[in-house]
Amino acid sequence: MGRIFLIDLEGNFYSCKHCQTAFALVDDIISKSFQCKHGKAYLFDKVVNVSVGEKEDRIMTTGLHTVVDIFCVTCGSIVGWKYEAAYEKSQKYKEGKFILERYKVLGPDGSEYNPPQDDVEDA
Ligand SMILES: [Zn+2]
Repeated sequence: MGRIFLIDLEGNFYSCKHCQTAFALVDDIISKSFQCKHGKAYLFDKVVNVSVGEKEDRIMTTGLHTVVDIFCVTCGSIVGWKYEAAYEKSQKYKEGKFILERYKVLGPDGSEYNPPQDDVEDA
């Protein structure tokens, strides 16, 4: 176990709400229209300073996907997931892309997001 090497991001970025580790640039957002169990989730082209979990198949409202959970490298909290593979043709654009759950991260201005209380369907 060595010292964790963190990548610095320049500009406006989303960061871990527990330890402020930088994750992803505002400029790398592909879509803000995702929903997860805890409200809003954003699709990013690139996310840094995360480690990945085991691959698993998940059936989402948009079909079957192979995903890995992503974790903050500094504090180990789960922050979202990465799409390894999508099986529906219309969903292929998500392959290799990342979801950050909005309530897990701080916004570029340090803002927190509180998830709605009512249950929302999986992304
Ligand atoms: Zn963290």
